[in-house]
Amino acid sequence: MSTPVSSTLSKADFQSGQETRWCPGCGDYSILAAVQGFMPELGIPRENIVFITGIGCAGRFSYYMNTYGMHAIHGRAPAIATGLAAARDDLSVWIVSGDGDALSIGGNHLVHALRRNVPVKILLFNNRIYGLTKGQASPTSEQGKVTKSTPGGKLDQPLDALSLALGAGATFVARTVDRDKEHLPAMLRAAAAHRGTALIEVLQNCPVFNDGAFEHVADKKQADAFRIPLEHGQPIIFGAEHERCVIRRPDGTLAVAPAGEVDAAGIVVHDAHRPDPSLAFALAQLGDLGQGPVPVGVLRQVDAAPWGEGLVAQARQAHAQIGTTELDALLQGGDTWTVA
Ligand code: SF4
Ligand code: MG
Repeated sequence: MSTPVSSTLSKADFQSGQETRWCPGCGDYSILAAVQGFMPELGIPRENIVFITGIGCAGRFSYYMNTYGMHAIHGRAPAIATGLAAARDDLSVWIVSGDGDALSIGGNHLVHALRRNVPVKILLFNNRIYGLTKGQASPTSEQGKVTKSTPGGKLDQPLDALSLALGAGATFVARTVDRDKEHLPAMLRAAAAHRGTALIEVLQNCPVFNDGAFEHVADKKQADAFRIPLEHGQPIIFGAEHERCVIRRPDGTLAVAPAGEVDAAGIVVHDAHRPDPSLAFALAQLGDLGQGPVPVGVLRQVDAAPWGEGLVAQARQAHAQIGTTELDALLQGGDTWTVA
């Protein structure tokens, strides 16, 4: 790849020209367009940007970005990205994964990337189904859902991606919607500015196997009623007439209430930068993704040193102490064995 002058890059520079192989109408197209459109804002040469993807429909994302990339093995994108981010702190590393890849097969790797605050940006496309394998229940599928793998209805509770991330200690957690041309880039911008792990759950429509799962949130006409927009430092109020708000119950949980029946002091003010994650967790628990109004925006953004900084410093210190000669001696030392 040639080295462009980053400031002159455009959306077209990030389009690989590969034939996109998603179904017509798939929400992945909107996300891809938004990401390609956002990339020039980074001001980073393409050769310093890497997209690492897992397996699933979302996994094809790395083919369509004109950056470096790797279509990794199932669920292991966070592990590979962790190694890359640790070894190359000059790169902007992005992960694209789906609800099955990130939360089932790769759940373990996702949790530890979040826990370590690895400097990577994770775009988790949640369509509440396994799309590539043609319609099996995923960890985020709702209870009772009838799918090819749950013909009698899904028995288990859905996994909430944001709650899981917060429980793992994620320092940046946000939710957005695939076809929102303003909100999605705004979340990408916020994630890119965050120096640790940033996880964005993108509510993504799979029109073939789970059509309309988030239509109430995605549809602009319904958005006022079904989105609870989060703005740091602002009272959480929503609705076309600002007629609803979020309050804290006596037991500490959050609830939606008519704004006209609540004193201004009783409305929860969003604090994304609060070190204690309990408010962000309560917001993640608020609402039902399949039916009710749900929070959209940055739930949590707290500054903390990314894990790689310490790792690189330790490696450099060790290298300085033992020197190249001793390192070579160690690598070629006698404590080896031969497998016949
Ligand atoms: Fe998109 Fe669903 Fe088709 Fe996959 S199966 S490409 S998620 S519409
Ligand atoms: Mg999926």
